[in-house]
Amino acid sequence: MRAIAKLQSGPGLQLTEVPVPQPGINEVLIKIKKTSICGTDVHIYNWDAWAEKTIRPPMVIGHEFVGSIEEVGSNVHGFQRGDLVDGEGHIVCGVCRNCLAGRRHLCKDTKGVGVNRDGAFAEYLCIPASNAVHVDPSIPLDVLSCFDPLGNAVHTALQYDLVGEDVLITGAGPIGCMATAVAKQSGARQVVVTDVNPNRLALARRMGATRVVDVSQEQLPEVQRELGMKEGFDVGLEMSGNPRALADMIDNMFHGGRIALLGIMPEKAPVDWNKVVFNMLTIRGVYGREMYETWYKMTALIQSGLDISPVITHRFPFTEFQQGFELMRSGKSGKIVLDWEN
Ligand code: NAD
Ligand code: ZN
Repeated sequence: MRAIAKLQSGPGLQLTEVPVPQPGINEVLIKIKKTSICGTDVHIYNWDAWAEKTIRPPMVIGHEFVGSIEEVGSNVHGFQRGDLVDGEGHIVCGVCRNCLAGRRHLCKDTKGVGVNRDGAFAEYLCIPASNAVHVDPSIPLDVLSCFDPLGNAVHTALQYDLVGEDVLITGAGPIGCMATAVAKQSGARQVVVTDVNPNRLALARRMGATRVVDVSQEQLPEVQRELGMKEGFDVGLEMSGNPRALADMIDNMFHGGRIALLGIMPEKAPVDWNKVVFNMLTIRGVYGREMYETWYKMTALIQSGLDISPVITHRFPFTEFQQGFELMRSGKSGKIVLDWEN
């Protein structure tokens, strides 16, 4: 089968031919329909310090996908050939304290599809059946291929009650843009989104932001005054991974404000802890998605009107993946979907 892989250490990715994986007794083989490109895939493409430390070539990459069940292992129940599925890209150990208690998203031994083992940018993918998720076939395939990052947005946005709250989202990347729509749909009043990239801010506006702010041109305290906000943001969703954005957030929260951190910071990001203390802020780290409550909520949100389709800005056949990666690297795109069937 054809697959997009990192064949050796160093920048770039290759379209290559690899054997179709064989499902073990507890696994399913999935025929891939569509995949979407994640920032993680771009890190692997670029071969930055994180990728060099984490990725062991040769390896097929990719973890955001939708496909149909092709084959099931002899011990698998509940899936049949032809079922439309997404996959949870975090494979958990199943035996640690959190896994045994049903808190699988808190497993200490998570392995990533397309990061620590062969991934989804291929004609077929093998994963444990416990990682396959049935999806609502009335949801467009393009949208279903983005459920993994949508899950990050939903899991982060739903950490706190948003009804009537003023929300600050730092970072209008694909995840920040999706979180914007989720926050609006979940009852937030103002959803203010910051970035330094005008294309991305325009996308956040399309996704329902009440106000977008280019922090290289404007300051958040002025924006708060303009919006008639007297006391700061109630909820902050950090989705840039930029220390400056985190500092801006901490400076602009209401007393007792609640922050969820999804963005992955460089090794160390300074925090003015006295502001956290005196303003009694809550800060919570968020990783991945909740298995499988987040998948349930994503589906329910879409079934009740959430539209994330504007965040998908480009589509390519998988053979033109290089173009997709170039665009992602330029910052001039939202989500990019690769088609594996046509
Ligand atoms: P992205 O890199 O596409 O988007 C980040 C955005 O932040 C960019 O548009 C960038 O211009 C903007 N930005 C840069 N400096 C800024 C500043 N000072 N203020 C405001 N915005 C600024 O990333 P993404 O794919 O949307 O993901 C968002 C973040 O979440 C990334 O840091 C990613 O690594 C992280 N992530 C974490 C998890 C997790 O499980 N914790 C999962 C997926 C992604
Ligand atoms: Zn575990």
